[in-house]
Amino acid sequence: AKENGRGVARVFEAHMGMEREARRLLEQDLKQALAGSEFELHYQPLVALEDERIIGVEALVRWRHPSRGLVPPNDFIPLAEETGLILPIGEWVLRTACRQGMQWPGLTVAVNLSPVQFKHRDLVAMVGEILEETGLRPERLELEITEGVLMHDGAAARDTLTRLKALGVRIAMDDFGTGYSSLGYLNSFPFDKIKIDKSFISDLSAEKSNAIVRSVIGLGQSLDMVTIAEGVETAEQASFLRREGCQQVQGYHFGRPVPVAQLTELVATVVRP
Ligand code: C2E
Ligand code: CA
Ligand code: CA
Ligand code: CA
Repeated sequence: AKENGRGVARVFEAHMGMEREARRLLEQDLKQALAGSEFELHYQPLVALEDERIIGVEALVRWRHPSRGLVPPNDFIPLAEETGLILPIGEWVLRTACRQGMQWPGLTVAVNLSPVQFKHRDLVAMVGEILEETGLRPERLELEITEGVLMHDGAAARDTLTRLKALGVRIAMDDFGTGYSSLGYLNSFPFDKIKIDKSFISDLSAEKSNAIVRSVIGLGQSLDMVTIAEGVETAEQASFLRREGCQQVQGYHFGRPVPVAQLTELVATVVRP
């Protein structure tokens, strides 16, 4: 039994070693990506349900890796957060989204903020500087944050949110419903928008999900917050959401995330003044 135990331990160590090595390589690669400008933003339309017009876009980061092709954010954001590389990456995302957003007058630009960025002291100053530098009107910038941001230090988070709002930017609660005490958070933080997570939308044929989505929309209405549903893939889902009074939608049914040039084309053909 003793030998057996050692064997297991050795295999485990070898496995950990490989994992460490793989992570080290990925971290090195990420640093190179930053230096070599291998990141790019794709933009997905946010659509008003009322008239199906594009009213904004969400910036979603991708990594154009020289050999691995287009790498999705879920494959590198977690390590970027662990290593702190999310700070320079996140700053690049914000600056690029604000600059590129200037090409689409009248559209809001939504940018995802990592909890790691959020805890960083200079966040508010950075946002202010980037707005000034790019000339994007603050009302056109929407910062998407998740519950993770609020969980650890509620007082500090409220202070940061208040100072961000004082700049004039909007704040959206992302992935709503996937965490623990979302309801309490809605009450005590100054959100402008609730984003209903796509897991509830893909499940809309189930009675329970219908009830949840319906009550989140009602909650948004009574708290005077805009509600947006993400991951809308079918006309049926869209008409359910319209019927229930959801104001905005985002999803493959209305448009996938696309590179800048394609979004510009889309905006030119479908957005009327
Ligand atoms: P998220 O903020 O919840 O973004 C929505 C995700 O759902 C995006 O995946 C989008 O492409 C995908 N999506 C949109 N419509 C549909 C649909 O109809 N069906 C389905 N199945 N999926 C849809 P993506 O681009 O792979 O991003 C994944 C996550 O990575 C994002 O989730 C966000 O948490 C994170 N992320 C993306 N860009 C950034 C960034 O610049 N900074 C940070 N910190 N995180 C980012
Ligand atoms: Ca988001
Ligand atoms: Ca989500
Ligand atoms: Ca998310």
